[in-house]
Amino acid sequence: VRKPNVVILGAGYGGLMTTVRLQKLIGVNEANITLVNKHDYHYETTWLHEASAGTLHHDRVRYPIADVIDRNKVKFIKDTVTKIAPNEKKVLLENGELEYDYLVIALGFESETFGIKGLKEYAFSIANVNAARQIREHIEYQFATYNVEEEKKDERLTIVVGGAGFTGIEFLGELVNRIPELCREYDIDPNKVRIICVEAAPTVLPGFDPELVEYAVSQLERKGVEFKIGTAIKECTPDGIIVAKGDEVEEIKAGTVVWAAGVRGSSVLEQSGFETMRSRIKVDPFLRAPGYEDIFVVGDCALIINEETNRPYPPTAQIAMQEGQLCAKNLAVLIRGQGELESFKPDIKGTVCSLGHDDAIGVVFGKKLWGTKASFMKKVIDNRALYLIGGSSLVMKKGKFKFF
Ligand code: FAD
Ligand code: NAD
Repeated sequence: VRKPNVVILGAGYGGLMTTVRLQKLIGVNEANITLVNKHDYHYETTWLHEASAGTLHHDRVRYPIADVIDRNKVKFIKDTVTKIAPNEKKVLLENGELEYDYLVIALGFESETFGIKGLKEYAFSIANVNAARQIREHIEYQFATYNVEEEKKDERLTIVVGGAGFTGIEFLGELVNRIPELCREYDIDPNKVRIICVEAAPTVLPGFDPELVEYAVSQLERKGVEFKIGTAIKECTPDGIIVAKGDEVEEIKAGTVVWAAGVRGSSVLEQSGFETMRSRIKVDPFLRAPGYEDIFVVGDCALIINEETNRPYPPTAQIAMQEGQLCAKNLAVLIRGQGELESFKPDIKGTVCSLGHDDAIGVVFGKKLWGTKASFMKKVIDNRALYLIGGSSLVMKKGKFKFF
């Protein structure tokens, strides 16, 4: 009998979880599993704010995919997906083409710039390992250049963070710890440095517990962050940004602008002709693309509506991993032609937002946490994600054990 071809696109939280679970469920003779990813490493997207600020080396946030896949069962292809042709059951890669019987789309997120002028050209975004390295290097370059120029340009030392969602706040938490180090390293007066966060909503972390938000804001302000709330970024230029608060328009000169104000699914989905909302496919209860019983979508490319709030679940690693686990089970059902498909029910355990390596805020199992307790919990969550994909050996290699 011919073995079905299962092709998994993307080795982030969703795709890698699907792969490692499927390789446990399925025997060598039951299916050909192929995993495709742009790089031969997986990165912890949820740690990228640390690599971007330079508080954690970029090699700490990634590991070889070969470390966690069973090569007897999974073929790994390092390549970039350019298009999916669902009616021909084909995937086009930069360097080839694959045919599938079952496809899993797990290509993750891209930065959403809402068409705001200049952002693509002049702002950075915390999108992957290489983008994170560029942000770190760029900030360091600005600091290194400041003192050697005859005419000092203070705006080189201004860093703007667009958006005070979880990504913006976690990045700020790392930055405020990194800046004193950079000032010492490059002989810079800390009073010359400005870190400005611009948030369009009337509050930081809209929708999160107000008491915890207040704690986060006061901790970050104490370490030098200026918040501009109810203020939207309207344009990004080579010199900085233009913001508006009501009718008031202001230009902020800045050597570094990091856009952390929203994400969308992979543009490959739009280019492949799927019906999407911000490049995310609204999946059926079994995580399949509507109209295609052979295509699953997991992670930030999938859109699921929370019936209670009638709004989409936020794109998180927590949900991506749970989707991967279920997707593997459902694939096994289809491959064997036995059993029933299960529908997806997210089990949201909580949210913890770090404020640097030793501080955080969070709500876990309905309980509010802040300070060192929350920070400890954040590292437990980070280590748990490693454990779920690569077991205790991966935790020993990559885990976070410096708790305070
Ligand atoms: P990703 O993890 O983005 O993985 C996608 C993979 O696909 C990558 O390996 C990429 O290289 C590959 N890929 C992309 N395009 C192609 C292509 N064309 N061809 C081949 N390969 C491709 N969520 C939480 O739950 N908790 C947190 O604490 C948290 N912190 C975060 C912190 C930051 C700084 C950021 C940016 C996000 C955070 N999130 C957090 C959100 C979380 O990271 C995402 O929801 C999660 O990464 C989505 O998983 P994914 O598998 O869909 O995609
Ligand atoms: P987000 O969409 O959650 O937040 C973006 C923020 O930018 C919002 O507060 C929005 O009001 C603001 N904004 C939008 N346009 C703006 C403009 N023109 N000017 C100024 N502000 C503007 O995006 P995110 O923070 O990147 O998070 C993406 C996803 O990743 C979310 O689902 C989030 O839950 C998840 N995440 C989770 C964690 C965590 O659990 N610790 C950390 C990071 C990200």
